[in-house]
Amino acid sequence: MADRECDRCGKNTPVKELGRKVGGDYLCRNCKIKTRVEHREKTINDAGISEDLRELKNKYSREKNSERRLNNRKLRMRESDDNTINEVPIPKGSKIKKIIKHTVCYLTMQERQSFFRMLLSRGVSAKDAKERIQRLVDSQKELREELGSKSTSEDEIKSRQKEFLEELWT
Ligand SMILES: [Zn+2]
Repeated sequence: MADRECDRCGKNTPVKELGRKVGGDYLCRNCKIKTRVEHREKTINDAGISEDLRELKNKYSREKNSERRLNNRKLRMRESDDNTINEVPIPKGSKIKKIIKHTVCYLTMQERQSFFRMLLSRGVSAKDAKERIQRLVDSQKELREELGSKSTSEDEIKSRQKEFLEELWT
């Protein structure tokens, strides 16, 4: 099949790869990817949600840190007990129990509502907005289960979190 120049960078590209026009231009693979990334950044900036997105990401890393601290603490308690006790009992209503309950990727009702309003302000229909948020909540549930099974690597968790945050805005 014949080649054609990419309208953006001028690279000779097979017509098959150029595919359909993007914003009135035929683009090579690299330029398509670049356009998509720029579009996503622009959408996020236009909607004024970059702050919220950053805040949510910070929240996740805070939760992950507090979980790590908790695990270290449990480990230390175990070691200090001459290895005679395998499980550290957690007293009812203790601080530790509360941390467990609220840790790991928990989206509050307030956050859900504020995402809902932001999506509406971006022209997303109420039905779509609800679906998107539901998807986000579902992926959080999955992520919690994976974290619980402890078979997931830190990197995997990080990239999954990033994925489902980005999915909400694209
Ligand atoms: Zn190009």
